[in-house]
Amino acid sequence: MKKKFFLSPRLLFLAIMFLSLNFSFAGKSDLIKVEPPFWWTGMEVQELQLLVYGNNISENTVEINYPGVKLSEVIKTENPNYLFLNLMISREAKTGKFQIIFKKKNKKVLSYGYELKERKSGSKEREGFNSSDVIYLIMPDRFSNGNPENDNMPGMLEKVNRKDPNGRHGGDIKGIDNHIDYFKDLGVTALWINPVFENNMPKYSYHGYSITDFYKVDPRFGSNEDYKKLVDDCHKKGIKMIKDMVFNHCGSGHWWMKDLPQQDWIHQFPEFTRTNYNAAIATDPYASEYDKNKFLNGWFDVTMPDLNQKNKLLANYLIQNSIWWIEYAGLDGIRMDTYPFSDKEFLADWMNRINKEYPNFNVVGECWISSASGIAYWQKDVVNKDSYKSPLKSVFDFPLMFAIGQAFTENNTWDKGIVKLYNALGQDFNYENTNNIVVFADNHDTERFFSTIDKDYNDFKNAMIFLLTTRGIPLIYYGTEILMTGHKNFGDGDIRKDFPGGWIGDKNNAFTNAGRNLQQNDAFNFVKKLLNYRKNNKVLQTGKLVHFIPENGVYVYFRYNDENAVMVIISNNDELIKLNTGRYSEILKKFSTGTNILNGQKIDDLGNISISPKSSMVVELR
Ligand code: CA
Repeated sequence: MKKKFFLSPRLLFLAIMFLSLNFSFAGKSDLIKVEPPFWWTGMEVQELQLLVYGNNISENTVEINYPGVKLSEVIKTENPNYLFLNLMISREAKTGKFQIIFKKKNKKVLSYGYELKERKSGSKEREGFNSSDVIYLIMPDRFSNGNPENDNMPGMLEKVNRKDPNGRHGGDIKGIDNHIDYFKDLGVTALWINPVFENNMPKYSYHGYSITDFYKVDPRFGSNEDYKKLVDDCHKKGIKMIKDMVFNHCGSGHWWMKDLPQQDWIHQFPEFTRTNYNAAIATDPYASEYDKNKFLNGWFDVTMPDLNQKNKLLANYLIQNSIWWIEYAGLDGIRMDTYPFSDKEFLADWMNRINKEYPNFNVVGECWISSASGIAYWQKDVVNKDSYKSPLKSVFDFPLMFAIGQAFTENNTWDKGIVKLYNALGQDFNYENTNNIVVFADNHDTERFFSTIDKDYNDFKNAMIFLLTTRGIPLIYYGTEILMTGHKNFGDGDIRKDFPGGWIGDKNNAFTNAGRNLQQNDAFNFVKKLLNYRKNNKVLQTGKLVHFIPENGVYVYFRYNDENAVMVIISNNDELIKLNTGRYSEILKKFSTGTNILNGQKIDDLGNISISPKSSMVVELR
């Protein structure tokens, strides 16, 4: 309610005098931020640390009088505009708002209502994503524009420009929400959406990795409530949500960059210092201090300052931030960007805290390293020589991604071509949990796979079969199912093109059968068939794997458990090959017939199998 009132000149003078003497009396507008914005009762960890930001806020004393909530410590930093309040929220604390009272010379100058919500029952038991899932990766700006009205938003520096491959195209959360039935129909069971946090940067901000507010969805994607609704809508249809987060860096337009809580909140150098991006440094026994310092503390880009997670207040801020999002939005997983670039003791603290609050939750870390040993270092329960214990459960299989590219582009020799798949999987002794590894042929940072194989459709089908029948959690980059192309050397815009049909007025709507051409429909139906077969097949999800050295460019492996087995045959050969089935007797002897699930064809004699040129068979054994 707005009230009109008039002040006499004398009163106005007195008021101005008073405000200038005691600025924080100006009221709530003076308290710029309290984060996390709210919290919950019934959490495992009772400590909560609030960041309070306001003009000279540290000049005040603070009081809280609320049963079950104890103010245990007030921390000041060198910046008078910040206070960090350590609270203990005991089991007795009731949900509702309590007042944080700020006093100066024993006089109340400000009161802030802080809300404690009730923790959702069962939130601790959430399942997390696992190898029964297939993840679909979406770049939200490039998938579908469900709400053209939010393309340009007041206060947001970058405006929409769909003609610019590095500009904002207008895709949003509503656009994703509108296509849940498409995901369901395709057969994927989890979404990983590139960061939806506010990225209020002057340019090149569509990708979401220059976060300017860790508690706010970018208004050009929608609101926090829209994001939560998307998660709820997905859950109703059996689709899980993995949130992309970045703790290594923020955007230079982040609100705190103008007024840092502490000088060591970020890593600062006399002149701009860039990371060397070499994630293997973190495990390199010979790495120089010079390289390590650059890797860990250098900025990701001029516009991406490096956060200092050794700063305990920042570390706590980030840890609570992820817990807040899991609890608020009901997440099933997190994908953590640039994992080894952050302080590794902090990473362990962060993961332990999540595992304590949500024991079944899953987090996949981006460790972009070309060797299995380098990645396995970061996986939970792996015993490392330096005794570092990483509580991170899942990792991305970058070595296998490289191998998939080579397998279908190189000529087959004893050490080239399809044998690369065999050799890459042979490194699995490094991992502690081979089911909890995310496998992929491409992602938002790499060349699109259909371009890697020079649009060879047979290679495409063979690779999809491998991806969806090998161990781990398969990941499909949006548009792979309709054969989207994109070359990394043409810039990131080329590998992150708009999904056709995602915008009103698009020539083709590839979300529909009628909007896809013949080959696209064939690819869509092929991937769909595999996804739906995998969805109901425990052997492919969690079964053991045994494979045989490729012969004649043909790779044969089995997924099996005590009852069932699936035989996968992938031929990279241009000719029809009759298999030497005697090699496979250790598995085949238990079965007499099989059915190729790709075309329904029965195989009555398992001793006599031939594979057509450049094709695959997925044989369910009986
Ligand atoms: Ca939009």
